[in-house]
Amino acid sequence: MMNKLAYLNAMLKKLITLFDNKGFDLSDIKENIDINCLDIDKKMKCDGYHQLTQNNNFDLNRKNNYRYYPNRNIHKIVIDSKIDNGIRAAETLIHELCHAVQYELYGDDCRPHGKEFKAIASSVGLDTRISCTPALPSLEAQIEEWEGELGTYPHPSLMSAGIKASEKNKIWEGVVEIFFNLCGLLWLVVMFASVVIITASIIEYFFPIS
Ligand SMILES: [Zn+2]
Repeated sequence: MMNKLAYLNAMLKKLITLFDNKGFDLSDIKENIDINCLDIDKKMKCDGYHQLTQNNNFDLNRKNNYRYYPNRNIHKIVIDSKIDNGIRAAETLIHELCHAVQYELYGDDCRPHGKEFKAIASSVGLDTRISCTPALPSLEAQIEEWEGELGTYPHPSLMSAGIKASEKNKIWEGVVEIFFNLCGLLWLVVMFASVVIITASIIEYFFPIS
């Protein structure tokens, strides 16, 4: 099973075509998009580049998980690893990609969620009337279609189902091993009984009791 990061990178390939279809060509920057899947509360401690761009308008915090690193020409996107729903994860990724497009078009001269951002987000199918920019129904249907191709977004109950399956396998392997051990034991008992009966018959033949 894919982990969340591998899944998000596979989803990114689909999203590049979505943006392309809406007139936003990501082909120049797609190699520089760096997706991370982190527990958002711990992210700031993990992020070693925070100091490099502290004057950047794009603040990497709970609400804004996109940052451009000019020194390295990297568009860094952080998706909260606590998100367990594929639609929510894709919506977040699309939202952060809108920031990358916004940065490419306008640099950091405009507000992170200003009218430039809203124009990009609404043209790719996000609902910009709500601050968390959920997918509009047509985009949600498209994400569901991609989920059908990629499989369900990895989440804990799926993972534990996987573990339960392997535990079941272990139990089954144990049962098979016990069965074969019992067969071996039964075989030894039959062999021993046969030797005893044959020996007794030979003794009986040569030394009849009466
Ligand atoms: Zn944002």
